[in-house]
Amino acid sequence: MNSHVSYNHIAAMLDRDHVWHHLTPGAAAAKGVPMFVRGEGLSIWDSAGKEYLDASAGGVWVVNAGYGRTEIADAIREQLVRLNFIASSMGNEPAALFAGKLLEKMPGMSRVFYSSSGSEANEKAYKMVRQIAHKHFGGKKHKILYRERDYHGTTISALSSTGQAERRAHFGPFTPGFVEVPHCCEYRNQYGDVDNYGLRAADAIEEVILREGPDTVGGIILEPITAGGGVILPPPGYLQKVREICDRYDILLIIDEVVCGLGRTGKWFGYQHFDIQPDIVTMAKGIASGYAAISCTVTSERVYQLLQEDEGDILGFFRDISTYAGNLAGPAAALANMDILEREGLVDNSAKLGERLLEGFRALQDKHPMLGDVRGKGLFAGLELVQDRETKEPVHETVAIAVAAKCKELGVLIGRTNRSLTGHNNIINFSPALIVTAEQIDRIVDVVDQALAEFGGCRQG
Ligand code: PLP
Repeated sequence: MNSHVSYNHIAAMLDRDHVWHHLTPGAAAAKGVPMFVRGEGLSIWDSAGKEYLDASAGGVWVVNAGYGRTEIADAIREQLVRLNFIASSMGNEPAALFAGKLLEKMPGMSRVFYSSSGSEANEKAYKMVRQIAHKHFGGKKHKILYRERDYHGTTISALSSTGQAERRAHFGPFTPGFVEVPHCCEYRNQYGDVDNYGLRAADAIEEVILREGPDTVGGIILEPITAGGGVILPPPGYLQKVREICDRYDILLIIDEVVCGLGRTGKWFGYQHFDIQPDIVTMAKGIASGYAAISCTVTSERVYQLLQEDEGDILGFFRDISTYAGNLAGPAAALANMDILEREGLVDNSAKLGERLLEGFRALQDKHPMLGDVRGKGLFAGLELVQDRETKEPVHETVAIAVAAKCKELGVLIGRTNRSLTGHNNIINFSPALIVTAEQIDRIVDVVDQALAEFGGCRQG
């Protein structure tokens, strides 16, 4: 008997019977989920030996440097053999070196607080806001604003600051002190005929601040480009205006770069497209391209200084720790990952080939009436599928699922928004590794063209 085949078979059975898959209902899992066994570059192989071009960076926007990077694996191995762990109240070389390299890419930022997931990085940011409120504002300025459609993580407070009803359903009650502000998706304009949608959408945030009381609001968290909520770009002027509003009311601006960070959008960080200076930036996923678990909460020097011990308050410094921030595979992988991004010019490649991807999709709009909106930045694109371009009525979720399934059948893995309670389940998304080539971009566009032709009622001639 071929031992590899039997090994795959046993793994598939154990998977079906014992692994509780994320975001997957039991009935679907019982049928068996695809098992993947190997990756190289942008290719990934399932246990039946079928090769796919992965246009989703591992399914959730992670593998920025591509699969099979022995250089990162070697760096991890060398570090683990030398020193695998030291609590992050103490120092270590890779964490120090990575902090230095990272801050070179983030002018105006000063301190790096390590942890090991995006949710955790955001929790740290919230704890900073809360502690600053206690230390400097008599506990009053404790509220944190978040935006409709943004996602900030899985833990209860990260979920309490997530603007997606489908993610929150059945998990309440939530942490108090998180307040929602309206989304900024111009394609789904909720303000009618306004001169400048970006400024109007930012004004909506100020309205919430004034309603809540500016002296109660300490922070706002925003994705620079909303990822899982539907690849929503901030409209022109929006983020700049939000920064002004934050300055006006002394509110900390937290930018969640968990998806957009490390080159995904064609700059090192998504916020850098919009000429703003955040107070806190969180990141995970692409930092180490999934070779190790690492996340960072990066702050300005002001935030760091606001959270120091003082005479009247010996507990006044930021008393926080995450055990696995001390697993040195994380910073070792992050350093090697950043070396690759720099040496191979992958951030520029993201900007350049991202344009090709968007142009390819825009060209499909003439042919496929279902392609309501094409949006994105760098190698991060979203297609909003509609039944009718005029009314913008979304397609049913099953259509987006079918299009993604057809792409998979044709050998390309893409992403799509989650099952939704609010009708935002009609968006498919694309985030190939930053090493993608022009030929691979063209293949992705071609496969989407074929999938839409099958399900979308292609416009003839
Ligand atoms: N923030 C954003 C924008 C995300 O998309 C995610 C995960 O998808 C998170 C935070 C949470 O990251 P993690 O799953 O690593 O906790």
